[in-house]
Amino acid sequence: MVLKCPYCNSICNFKPVWCPNYTLDIVEIPPNKFRNGVWNVVMQCDNVSCRKYIFIFADGMGGINAIFPLPSYAQEKIEGVPDDIWIDYIETGKCFDIKTYNATVVMCRRALQNITIDKGAKKSDDLYIQLEDLKNKGIIQGILYDVAKHIRTVGNDGAHPEKSKVIEDDAKEIKDFTWQIIDYIYLLPCRISKIQTRKQTT
Ligand SMILES: [Zn+2]
Repeated sequence: MVLKCPYCNSICNFKPVWCPNYTLDIVEIPPNKFRNGVWNVVMQCDNVSCRKYIFIFADGMGGINAIFPLPSYAQEKIEGVPDDIWIDYIETGKCFDIKTYNATVVMCRRALQNITIDKGAKKSDDLYIQLEDLKNKGIIQGILYDVAKHIRTVGNDGAHPEKSKVIEDDAKEIKDFTWQIIDYIYLLPCRISKIQTRKQTT
């Protein structure tokens, strides 16, 4: 089974090594064979420099309920993203990995709010005003501003039971959008600056 390894952070093939109440004489588990109580299984990463073990917990309906440790367990810090914002973003991944989609979008909203504060918005304002502030300063504009507003709206849905239900697709989309904003605000300027430096020295 091909999965992202939570230890070596690579896409690796995992082999089953232990399964409760079952004699393990197979080398591959077809994904549709996961069954509650039978297909909870310990698997080993086939990366020779890793070889660590994970536990896969079946959902009883033919799918995977959870993988331990979480796939987001070993995500390496990316240089250029402020610590507070990185911590929020990693938490969005942990929430998504355990299928808590309301919590995922709430954490995305929190990461977005931390970005606005980092970029000079007033801490005491609400996120709507903080985003307006960033738009007026030219930090986020156009489509990126629309993306930020969408994160805020869906984040509110996740926080308030009377609002729209947040499903997996929403959570995945909002998590991806949050990363796009982080990339645009923090990582793209670093990349451009490195390219300019390289061009000047050649
Ligand atoms: Zn591994």
